[in-house]
Amino acid sequence: MSKWKSIQLPVSWYQNADVLKLFAHSRSAVGVFLMLATYCSDRRTGGKFSEMGAKYVVQATDDELKILEDFGWIKRIGLDKRGDILYRIVGFRRYNPYARDPIPKELREAVYERDGYKCVNCGSTEHLSLDHIYPWILGGEDTYDNLQTMCRSCNSRKGAKTDAHKDDTT
Ligand SMILES: [Zn+2]
Repeated sequence: MSKWKSIQLPVSWYQNADVLKLFAHSRSAVGVFLMLATYCSDRRTGGKFSEMGAKYVVQATDDELKILEDFGWIKRIGLDKRGDILYRIVGFRRYNPYARDPIPKELREAVYERDGYKCVNCGSTEHLSLDHIYPWILGGEDTYDNLQTMCRSCNSRKGAKTDAHKDDTT
């Protein structure tokens, strides 16, 4: 068994409009989704799971899978060797504690350079790292426009306030 690590869900996840919409529609689908994310994370599947796995391991029903598919949280990606439907969790890397693509070096450098190698908040030049303006966990991308330079203390203060995903790439 792999060493347990919980999937990443900050408090703000529950305030996300898409989450609230699904939650209002079907609470059990949200529960199934979280179990699927945990299942995929634990088995290091990169967000892929079969219909069989969802039904037997996570006890998902046809209805719940259909709701998740209709709401765009999971996507059919084909069939496995046994003819079982394969799904993928959309945007799984946001939930996966094991796999996080590092921000490319060129992009990091470009953002630091744009911000003058200073914290955009307090101007400090020490312990700098990149911060996602729109939180990564809520779908904020690793893009030039969504990244800014921040020092460790401003970053953790922002994190405490919004419970945003903290990025440790220095
Ligand atoms: Zn700062």
